[in-house]
Amino acid sequence: MASVKSLTSQISALDINKKSASSSLRPTHAKHPSQGSTGKLLTKYGAANAGSTHGILKQTNPSSLRHPTAITNATTVNTTATTTTSRPPSPGRDAARMGLDIGRYDGGLETENEKRGEKVYGEAAQELALDSSVSRKSPTREWSLHSFEIGRPLGKGKFGRVYMVRTKTEPRYIVALKTLYKSEIVQSRVEKQIRREIEIQQNLRHPNVLRLYGYFHDEKRIFLMLEFAGKGELYKQLSKYGCFSERRSARYIDQMADALIYLHRKHVIHRDIKPENLLLGINGELKIGDFGWSVHAPGNRRRTLCGTLDYLPPEMVESKEHNERVDHWALGVLTYEFMIGSPPFEDRSSVNNTYRRIANVDLKFPSSMSLEARDLVSKLLVYEPEKRLPLTEVIVHPWIAKHRPKGTVRDAGSL
Ligand code: AMP
Repeated sequence: MASVKSLTSQISALDINKKSASSSLRPTHAKHPSQGSTGKLLTKYGAANAGSTHGILKQTNPSSLRHPTAITNATTVNTTATTTTSRPPSPGRDAARMGLDIGRYDGGLETENEKRGEKVYGEAAQELALDSSVSRKSPTREWSLHSFEIGRPLGKGKFGRVYMVRTKTEPRYIVALKTLYKSEIVQSRVEKQIRREIEIQQNLRHPNVLRLYGYFHDEKRIFLMLEFAGKGELYKQLSKYGCFSERRSARYIDQMADALIYLHRKHVIHRDIKPENLLLGINGELKIGDFGWSVHAPGNRRRTLCGTLDYLPPEMVESKEHNERVDHWALGVLTYEFMIGSPPFEDRSSVNNTYRRIANVDLKFPSSMSLEARDLVSKLLVYEPEKRLPLTEVIVHPWIAKHRPKGTVRDAGSL
């Protein structure tokens, strides 16, 4: 992976901003929703394989061990670091250059639109009139459904389908177009969270953070133009293989840590890191793809429980104040789950046991895990948030460094 320094010199992402537009498990793994979360409402109730026929999607085997918890809005990141200037390459353009076939359209957008959703009125209509061409911070050019050739369906989410599409105008970027039915957003009372998720994601530019290029709406729907994650869901890979090799795990964790350093410096805490929220880019690189639980900007610390139980840190389980260190804990859980195939504090017999194990940091390592990997996990899964290993030290940890592909530069000093 390129260092942040080198990324700054790379060309910016898709030239679809106004500025440039002128020039142109193991077998038991099951996908778990993070209930109560916009992002998860947005994305995790209805996976492509969820077996829905009419847009009312079945929840895929929610485990009693991954529980919904309360939701409130703000919390704070008490980092004072300046915003990183890293910029991603241009995945949409790369996809176009690679001559990717967008596949065959099944007419699903129209069929679905006939059967699904209603017009919304009043305040909700205003709230959901989302259009990136008039965004104050980073306006894009005007988009509409007519701007795209529609290709194959990529999946179904809680609020609508996702399609692989290509812009009709040169250079014919490939993106994933995600539809969200406004009336369903209103019914689920997540208008504000949706806006927040979109606002957060549109300002993020990092190679391991799924890019949101733009958005527009029509009477019934909101459309999100997302970076196309060519290799799909990481979760599916984990389900297929049960667990990953140490090398593969270390490489993903390296990318995760880099993305989290970036997010924390932008004052964004993710708060819902888990395999279900990760996608893979066309080169197999990891992409954080879901910001439903993330919280932006400093504010008052909140005692909010959110996210997936297995990934919750002690301070959240105990309803204490929390900060960006929750993501360090989740990174430790993720590292363990990648290698072992299940999260470290999972107790399938009782949710309370899981809570207890988290609060006691009841961590047991199977003999299969290397000492170096154990060292990293045990430095992240620390009860006291401030004693968890800093992310800048994660990326120079011997286990991470050992597995990093040759030629990759990491320059923690510049981070
Ligand atoms: P979501 O509503 O985000 O859960 O999306 C539903 C499904 O569409 C996911 O489970 C993915 O398989 C697929 N999908 C969503 N976003 C993308 C993307 N950016 N690139 C490729 N596939 C995606």
